[in-house]
Amino acid sequence: MKDKITIIIPCYNEQETIPIFISEMDKVYNHMQKSYDIEMEYLFVDDGSKDKTLSVMKEAAEKYSHVNYISFSRNFGKEAAMFAGLENADGDYVVIIDVDLQDPPELVEEMYTTIKNSDYDCVASRRVTRTGESKIRSFFARMFYRMIGKISKTNIVDGARDFRMMTRQMVDSIVSLREYNRFSKGIFQWVGFNTKWIAFENRNRVAGTTKWSFWGLLVYAIDGIVAFSTAPLALSSIIGILFCIIAFIMILFIIFRTLIFGDSVSGWPSLVCIICFATGIQLFCNGITGLYMSKTYSEVKKRPQYIIKTQSKDNKNNNN
Ligand code: UDP
Ligand code: MG
Repeated sequence: MKDKITIIIPCYNEQETIPIFISEMDKVYNHMQKSYDIEMEYLFVDDGSKDKTLSVMKEAAEKYSHVNYISFSRNFGKEAAMFAGLENADGDYVVIIDVDLQDPPELVEEMYTTIKNSDYDCVASRRVTRTGESKIRSFFARMFYRMIGKISKTNIVDGARDFRMMTRQMVDSIVSLREYNRFSKGIFQWVGFNTKWIAFENRNRVAGTTKWSFWGLLVYAIDGIVAFSTAPLALSSIIGILFCIIAFIMILFIIFRTLIFGDSVSGWPSLVCIICFATGIQLFCNGITGLYMSKTYSEVKKRPQYIIKTQSKDNKNNNN
């Protein structure tokens, strides 16, 4: 029986990269068709781009029968774009790949061969180098993986990309997780199944620019921690207990000092320092609790992950 492979490609302001991606991916597709009985679908997800991305997708979808697209009503972020792709993909195997060719399309063949000839449910990729990336960004990325590795029960692999091939069963499990605050790198691990990792060297984008600012990455890292660990909540309790113990020792110290040496008014500057420090710690811990509360708030609202404005499948079906 023919296997269908759906390739999900999230795109945000990628008018230059889409045509290059299609020609590169087509090479892999043509090569794979020689050895396997497969059919591919490229499912582009336009994440509310502000440039000509959507018209480039529309043109491609008209020209090629294996190209389809979904277009959002605004920018919902890559997580939402990947989720929309997974929900709308009907392939037996599903691939998520970046459009900028930083994820090498030729690995798709290796992924398919591995998944077909073994009992792996997922073949995922990880970067072993970060050349071409700024030193500061690499440093913070490493710190993030080290930290989340320590505080989360879910093992989040350093350098793991979203680029991977999964079986239908695994995709269905991922789609069944309906959480609003999605951190896919964690979710892919959380659902389990057997994953084989393939390593590759970092590559630079073929065209366009990265959509990630330093601030954006920081927020993404915090979201990841909040979604996959409750350790910060425990941390605030531990700090609280620690401060209670310190305060208790200080009270004893002051009582004995007064009993022995009598009362004195000196020492107010240190008191002010202690008040400031303790208030700071309290606000910090309140902030941590607030972070989890705000995530819970967005979860209970149950808003959709994304809103589709147009999609090619409607048009193609109407024409039939
Ligand atoms: N992307 C997206 N929505 C966004 C930001 C990015 O769909 O809000 C897509 C983008 O078009 C690309 C992929 O996510 O296909 C990775 O983005 P980028 O290359 O900018 O990130 P980097 O490789 O620098 O981590
Ligand atoms: Mg990129």
